[in-house]
Amino acid sequence: MRIFLRRNAGETAEDKRLDRLRRVLRAARRTVRYRGVLEAAGLATEEALRHLRRPEDALWRLPRLEAVEWDRANAAWCNPGAAAPSPEALRFPAGTLPRTAIVLPRQEPWFRRDRQVRLFEPAQLRDLLAYEPEAIAAPAAFLVFLARLVDSGYFPSFPRLKRGLVAFTSVAPRREGPEEMTRQERDLLWEVFRVPTFQQFLGLDGRLIAWECEAREGLHVEPANAVLEVDRRSEILFTSLTDCQMPTLRLATRATAAVELSRCPCGHPTPRLAEWRALPLPIRTRAACAGG
Ligand SMILES: [Zn+2]
Repeated sequence: MRIFLRRNAGETAEDKRLDRLRRVLRAARRTVRYRGVLEAAGLATEEALRHLRRPEDALWRLPRLEAVEWDRANAAWCNPGAAAPSPEALRFPAGTLPRTAIVLPRQEPWFRRDRQVRLFEPAQLRDLLAYEPEAIAAPAAFLVFLARLVDSGYFPSFPRLKRGLVAFTSVAPRREGPEEMTRQERDLLWEVFRVPTFQQFLGLDGRLIAWECEAREGLHVEPANAVLEVDRRSEILFTSLTDCQMPTLRLATRATAAVELSRCPCGHPTPRLAEWRALPLPIRTRAACAGG
């Protein structure tokens, strides 16, 4: 049995998801790695794409992509003709958007600067401090790094945050496994910054895949941007509905999650991913990681 996570949306939202998947499939056709896979699945022609009625019609024909097989650094997975995605607004999950510092490397220009949002690179910590943000949005690993610096007294006058932290993690697995936020890391962020942490899963193109709301009872799936499948072992498979530079179809995340379908206390209707946990690594991969 496979479960597809999606909202009970009206026809327009479903049509939009299907249009987005068609665009990603066309992009995948232009990659070395996917061309043969799509031909074998009968999805390599415009006519085949026209006959699709919903995203699942295409996905069930495609093999799952194992994390060990996938390599984001390999040009065979890339569509060289695709334009870079345009920056989007940050979704702040609690109330109005506070004065926010977003910290990301220069090569990941995923968010728009605006009156309330300023963009920084990780090396611009002094500038970030001078900005006196009410909230910081950054990769989870960077926030933990920053918390350790502040905790060690490296920044004696670190501005007091008022609204929260947004911790980005990638839905795509790294070589050593899926990206997780541990309980200890969340505790450290709370002890140092004294504001709530809201986790957000991002796709490889920086698009929002799932986000934690104020109720903090799992991460709401963003159905316009991704299809998340749950397989027999509860492993999550990720398909991007937005990424045409590096099309990602049914990528096994090496993580399991429980799917919460009941209405969230925050009132938002989308399903939620809860209890995101890493699966044990295959022995071969574990040995490779241990060996560096
Ligand atoms: Zn909620």
